Amino acid sequence: MRTIIEPFRIKSVEPLRRTTPEQRENILAGAGYNLFQVRSSDILIDLLTDSGTSAMSTEQWAAMMRGDESYAGSESFYRFEQAVRELTGFRHVIPTHQGRAAEHILFSIMCKPGQSVPNNTHFDTTRANIESNGARALDLPFPGTSDTQARLPFKGNLDVEALEKLMEAEGPSKIPLVMITVTNNSGGGQPVSMANIEAVRKVTTRYGVPLYLDACRFAENAWFIKRDEPGYADLTPREIAQKMFSLADGCTFSAKKDAFANIGGFLCTNNSKLAEQETNLLILTEGFPTYGGLAGRDLEAIAVGLEEVLQPEYLEYRIASTAYLGRHIADHGVPIVEPPGGHAIYIDAGRMLPHIPRAQFPGQALAVELYRHAGVRSVEIGSVMFGAEARHELLRLAIPRRVYTQSHVDYLVEAILEVNQRKDKIRGFEIVSQPQFLRHFTARFQPV
Ligand SMILES: *Cc1c(COP(=O)(O)O)cnc(C)c1O
Repeated sequence: MRTIIEPFRIKSVEPLRRTTPEQRENILAGAGYNLFQVRSSDILIDLLTDSGTSAMSTEQWAAMMRGDESYAGSESFYRFEQAVRELTGFRHVIPTHQGRAAEHILFSIMCKPGQSVPNNTHFDTTRANIESNGARALDLPFPGTSDTQARLPFKGNLDVEALEKLMEAEGPSKIPLVMITVTNNSGGGQPVSMANIEAVRKVTTRYGVPLYLDACRFAENAWFIKRDEPGYADLTPREIAQKMFSLADGCTFSAKKDAFANIGGFLCTNNSKLAEQETNLLILTEGFPTYGGLAGRDLEAIAVGLEEVLQPEYLEYRIASTAYLGRHIADHGVPIVEPPGGHAIYIDAGRMLPHIPRAQFPGQALAVELYRHAGVRSVEIGSVMFGAEARHELLRLAIPRRVYTQSHVDYLVEAILEVNQRKDKIRGFEIVSQPQFLRHFTARFQPV
């Protein structure tokens, strides 16, 4: 059979609330045309983020009932630790309440002012945690990423040549660690090849600098390697993921992505001295080392989720479903970041709405129009979010895991194509009020 189906059936449902166009017009005006300010009950299909929005399985809910809420030495911690160790092979496993807490602890211990941390592309919390320790967060994306339309595999790769040059110029004492983000979230959800991780590993070994994975979407990345990289078709996603982790000295992880959990994260390292310092900081900021800011039941959900996410039927459906959305809108003239990534489709709003200048936020205009037309929530990733540093004006449609069905995806395709048909009538926005930092969450807009 050719048809790829959702490899699950639905046991518990959550009703969707429909709104009328008039209601949505009022909701938009009340929210200052900022979708972060809209209540979730006023959203029909919510593609704001894939973080913490997964549907958990019957096995995860069952495991949660087994949660051991002991302060010290919880059985749930040992099950969690074993699941993480079997997957990653790392010696020390430190639970945290989410990914950014792992980043905070890692960079507080490893980074000093004046140092630089290179990455294919830093996620925004990663960048902020490096910079708040006085170090510099450096993006070294593979040069092919600047053209959103190029259909190359592994556009998430790190630019190894640029890394070599940096190492030579600054020396290992100025580079406390190198990171690779899999998949490259801020770079369009694009995967990183095993060959690229190996090439980066060679450089870091030569200079004696540790390599860390920002591993939030390790399973989606493993599937792309299996599908597209020569030599990996016959390995299981687990074997590929294990090989990815074996090339690194440690990792940070948000369990809100590829562990199907609603909260949680962890930090891993093979370095016992670092682990001791990290654990001491953990106790200060997150909690005792056998719970790290999480309930025992959360640790159980993560342990089960790490198994389930590597099931080939799930990954095949997941990547095919995202690609289906991307192909069906792109083949009818909507410019997306090519090729479709793992967890999201990014529409190139700057290219789609050339009549709206950057200063009038084409990505925001498209986000508002998609909500107005179809009740769909998405998020601008462009000049509203990054100001003058924005490289592209994108609209991200992030797909929650195991939540929406094929008919929801068909509804999305129809909605986006209808908006595309009358794109010439979409107008830009200006900012009425904004806070000093992270303005995209609370800024208010008005149509120009
Ligand atoms: C989500 C994410 C993080 C941060 O994780 P949180 O759980 O949201 O704190 C870090 N890096 C990447 C690539 C992410 O996608």
